[in-house]
This record gives sequence, C-alpha cells and structure tokens, in this order.
Amino acid sequence: MAIIGGGPAGLMAAEILSQRGVKVDVYDSMPSVGRKFLVAGKGGLNLTHSEPFEQFVSRYGSRKKEIEKWLMDFTPDDLREWARGLGIETFVGTSGRVFPVGMKTSPLLRAWLKRLDDLGVTFHLRHKWNGWNADKSLKFETPEGEKSVKADAVVLALGGGSWARLGSDGAWVNWLRQAGVEVEALKPSNCGFDVAWSPHLRERYEGHPIKSVVLSFESFRQRGEFILTKGGVQGSLIYAASALIRDEIEAKGGVVILLDMAPDRSYEWLVEKLSKPRGSRSMASHLEKTAGMKGVKAGLLHEFAPKEDFANVERPASFIKRLPIPLIAPRPLDEAISSAGGVTFESLDENLMIRELPGIFCAGEMLDWEAPTGGYLLTACFASGRAAGESVLKWMESLGTAV
Ligand SMILES: Cc1cc2nc3c(=O)[nH]c(=O)nc-3n(C[C@H](O)[C@H](O)[C@H](O)COP(=O)(O)OP(=O)(O)OC[C@H]3O[C@@H](n4cnc5c(N)ncnc54)[C@H](O)[C@@H]3O)c2cc1C
Repeated sequence: MAIIGGGPAGLMAAEILSQRGVKVDVYDSMPSVGRKFLVAGKGGLNLTHSEPFEQFVSRYGSRKKEIEKWLMDFTPDDLREWARGLGIETFVGTSGRVFPVGMKTSPLLRAWLKRLDDLGVTFHLRHKWNGWNADKSLKFETPEGEKSVKADAVVLALGGGSWARLGSDGAWVNWLRQAGVEVEALKPSNCGFDVAWSPHLRERYEGHPIKSVVLSFESFRQRGEFILTKGGVQGSLIYAASALIRDEIEAKGGVVILLDMAPDRSYEWLVEKLSKPRGSRSMASHLEKTAGMKGVKAGLLHEFAPKEDFANVERPASFIKRLPIPLIAPRPLDEAISSAGGVTFESLDENLMIRELPGIFCAGEMLDWEAPTGGYLLTACFASGRAAGESVLKWMESLGTAV
C-alpha cells in the first residue's frame, strides 16, 4: 500500500490503514514530511472552526455535498478529539476559530509521526513521484537514482501548487492528465491581488495594515483588515473575498472593490464634520482632525479620489465610505495560501478512487474544491485522508486482499 504525499491528508490515510494492520509505505519528495502543515502553524495553527456544522459545511461552496460526506465521518469536534488523543488540547479563539494550545504545529506533528512509527508506517523521503512506468509501476526519482514500486493500492495526497518550496509543486497535474484523468488547472485561492500603486504610495506605505474597514464586492461585504504590499494587497479580508474576485477578473479582466474606511461613521456624520471651517489647515490635516483619515487610509484616499473632488465636502465623505480600488490580477499561485482546481470529483467514484485508474485514490488539497481560511482547509484535508483510507480498506476487502 503506497501513500504518496506526507501532508495532513496522506498522513491521515496512513493512520487509518496502519491501524487496521495494512503495511503502509509513505513516499514524499522532501527530506521531511508535513512541511506546509508546519508552516501553517507559524502564525497560529488554525486547525478547525467551532461554528455550527451546517454553517461549517456551507464554506465549501459548490463542493459542499461531497465534502459534507467526509465531514460527517470526521467532524470538526472529532478533529479536536483526535488532537487530544495525541496529547494536544485545543481552544476556541474569539473569532470561533480553533487552535491548539501553544498555537504551533510541531508538537502535534511530532506526536503524530511517533504514533505512525509505532504503527509500523515506513517513510521514504526524497522520493519524488514522476508518474507511472510502462508496466504500471510507480516511478520515483531518488538520490540513488530512479526506483520503481509496485503497490496493491495507492493514495495520492500530493497537495496543491502553492508554496512549491514546501514540496507541493503541482507537477502531478501532468502525470494524471497523461493518464486520462480530468484535472482542472490549479489556481490561486486565498490569495492577494496586484494593484498599480503610485510609486509614492508604495514607498510610503508598503507593509502597512489597513484596519477595520469594510470591503464590498458584488454580494460580498465583510469587515476586517488587510495589508498594502509592494505590488498590491493581501491579508485575511482580501483572502475572504478572493475566490469571487479571482473568478470575476478571469471573466472580465479586472475588478473594482469598494472600501468603507470609516464603517462606524455614517456618510452624514462625515459630511457634518468635514463641513466645519478648515481655517488655515491643509486639507490633509482637516481630514485627519475631523474624519480621522490619517496614515495609510489618508494615502489611499489621495491615491484614488481625484484632487478636484476635495473642493466640496460631500465628495471626500463619499470616497471615505466607498473608495474604489482597482484590482488587476491575482498574485501568482506560488504565493497563495491554497489552490483551487485539481482532480475533478467527476473523475472519481464515490470512494475517491479514480475511475480511469482502479486502485488509485486521491485525497486533500489536490482535489477540485476550495474554502476560505478559518481551519476549513485542514479539516477537509484530514477528513478526506480518512475517507480515502477507509475506501482503500473496502476496496482491498472487495478484492479479497488480506488485510
Ligand atoms: C502559509 C500557509 C498557512 C496556512 N495556514 C492554514 C491554517 O492555519 N489552517 C488551515 O486550515 N489551512 C492552512 N493552510 C493550508 C493547509 O496547510 C493546506 O491546505 C494543507 O497542508 C493541505 O494538505 P495536503 O495533505 O492536501 O497537502 P500538503 O500539505 O501540501 O502535502 C502534500 C505533500 O505531498 C508531497 N508531494 C507533492 N508532490 C510530490 C511528488 N511528485 N512526489 C512525492 N511527494 C510529493 C509534498 O512534499 C507534501 O509533503 C496554510 C497554508 C499556507 C501555505
């Protein structure tokens, strides 16, 4: 039994199978497994979310039906219980997001790898899977040269295509397409966007957070914060709207988002304040004193509100409430938190087995679904790894293969 890819999905499949006495070999191209999982813990590992199940599954959008099936067998609460079983307690943060106490991945991953080792799982590191040989054996590139491996069943858990330096480089897309499997092109998900900032704004405000603003775009309206980067915008509020914005850019070639930079103030309140006599104060100083527009928010206002509009007070007030920011393109896939696209659900049977390739199962981010940040990515990866593991057991039993 071969599992290719030692991220959360592959390791979960390895746990399920090895617990039932199957001899499992995990192959990974990197010198150690779980690298993206480790990096996910850098800013605080958001394992899952505590909201009601119905709301939780709605986060998977058009793939809700498929993912709900995995999650019914491994709920967000089951995930917390599983972490507890590895000696890691979790807590619910103020936003409802669930984190391990200590916030980091490393203690959880260490305990998990020890469990897998005790279960007899064998790890083959620096083994890059490069498709199949003519005799249908798996082809690996290793430091000792090319190796072929024959397995009764295979779980592919190769991840998406972002942060390629951590191992998931999306090279598998070619191998699967060549084998006749339908794979949607990988696209950035939870990603930033390019904006053509003026050199002045970029130099002055690169890296500055834009806090407590409301972003509106089509049906999307949410309060939060993001960061002005050298080439555009990134951060949680932008990521939350990113799937919608990405698809619209793909369809129309560019979009304009609207920013309410004073969500606690009404337009009328702003007009009243800005109408106060300015005296000898500059407009910039007047905006700061009366409407609180300073720093990066003032910079954005001057970037996108035409100068002549500052002559009467209604125009700046309306720009503060609805500042248009043109977004040009998504940032490259490699910079994204996750990937959309991947192996389509239509090319799999209900047990995550590739219809064209009996005995080959898929799990994790390499499947064609996406979700916002908030713990939804990892939860679905873990749950799909379990589902793939259970399916392999069923399949082996159906073939009469001894387990
Ligand atoms: C910066 C960052 C922060 C994140 N934070 C969070 C968070 O807080 N909460 C959350 O839910 N999600 C988070 N995510 C997303 C989450 O980490 C991923 O969705 C998850 O790791 C995907 O799991 P996976 O097992 O499908 O794939 P991966 O974790 O990508 O693992 C795939 C494995 O396959 C191996 N592999 C790939 N190709 C080959 C090949 N050809 N041969 C052999 N091995 C191969 C790779 O080396 C890798 O080890 C974050 C992602 C990033 C980049």
